[in-house]
Amino acid sequence: MHLTLESVTRVSPKARAFRFRSAKGAVPFAAGQFYRFVFEDDEGPFERSYSLANHGAPDDVADLLISEVEGGRATRVLWSAEPGLEVVATGPFGRLTLPEPLPERVILVAASVGLAPFLPMFDELEGPLRDGRVRVVVILGIRNPAELLAADLLHRLQTLPGFELHVCHSREMPESAGPGDHPGYVQDTLARVGVDGQSDVVLLCGNPPMVQACRELLNEQRFPRKRVRREPYVFAPRIEATRAGGPTDAERRLIAEKMAKHRRDQA
Ligand SMILES: Cc1cc2nc3c(=O)[nH]c(=O)nc-3n(C[C@H](O)[C@H](O)[C@H](O)COP(=O)(O)OP(=O)(O)OC[C@H]3O[C@@H](n4cnc5c(N)ncnc54)[C@H](O)[C@@H]3O)c2cc1C
Repeated sequence: MHLTLESVTRVSPKARAFRFRSAKGAVPFAAGQFYRFVFEDDEGPFERSYSLANHGAPDDVADLLISEVEGGRATRVLWSAEPGLEVVATGPFGRLTLPEPLPERVILVAASVGLAPFLPMFDELEGPLRDGRVRVVVILGIRNPAELLAADLLHRLQTLPGFELHVCHSREMPESAGPGDHPGYVQDTLARVGVDGQSDVVLLCGNPPMVQACRELLNEQRFPRKRVRREPYVFAPRIEATRAGGPTDAERRLIAEKMAKHRRDQA
């Protein structure tokens, strides 16, 4: 599918929203899925995956919510992109979707732009929330208050019955913290919220260490694995290595080092 960049909006110091439009009609996807985008730079074409973050959007657009990665190839292309940039995208992919029928309670856990795939889900959850057919808990991890994404939407959803928002600040709490603001990480709050293997489904999205920490917690609590869906935002080198037949030992070591650095950066 050919998509054309229509607009770029700064949504936090480190994140931007990109709206791409298809000239050929609807961009098909289920809330929570992602597309693979092909970009081009001096070294040639390369691919990166992005969740569709459409919320109340026309059906011929692909809205992306992207976090800046220092020295990143896609970051370099996108952060200097002008409207009119043309890209090829393939998809939709991924199984981080809402179960049907909806369970009694959906727990959405995200770090930073890991919120992206949950935005289209809110379109689908709003009606059932209003009717009292589902309860929704959002646990969002950010480093400081300036990184809060989709604040207006989240605060509007908070007025609905059965919607609970927890924002976990790993570095800096807001000056006037509310009852939904917590210091620390999403897994700490997930542990406090508590899960019920009969009524809950948990969806996890964001950096791989955060997704792994939540999985371990849920495993410790003997939460049924089939009630957990996850989308770790694995860095591209790992995906490229996997496609080529699996990472070598040296690549595994490199990935482990990068994950450790990432964990330190998040701390
Ligand atoms: C299924 C899926 C969906 C995704 N959806 C989104 C999305 O909606 N929004 C979004 O922002 N990203 C998303 N990502 C991540 C995205 O695909 C890219 O990996 C990310 O944008 C970085 O690409 P880059 O080319 O700028 O950096 P790269 O050139 O790939 O990386 C540059 C360097 O930074 C390291 N690195 C890469 N990513 C990170 C990171 N997040 N933190 C710290 N170090 C990093 C790399 O190991 C490398 O050393 C998703 C990933 C997957 C697998």
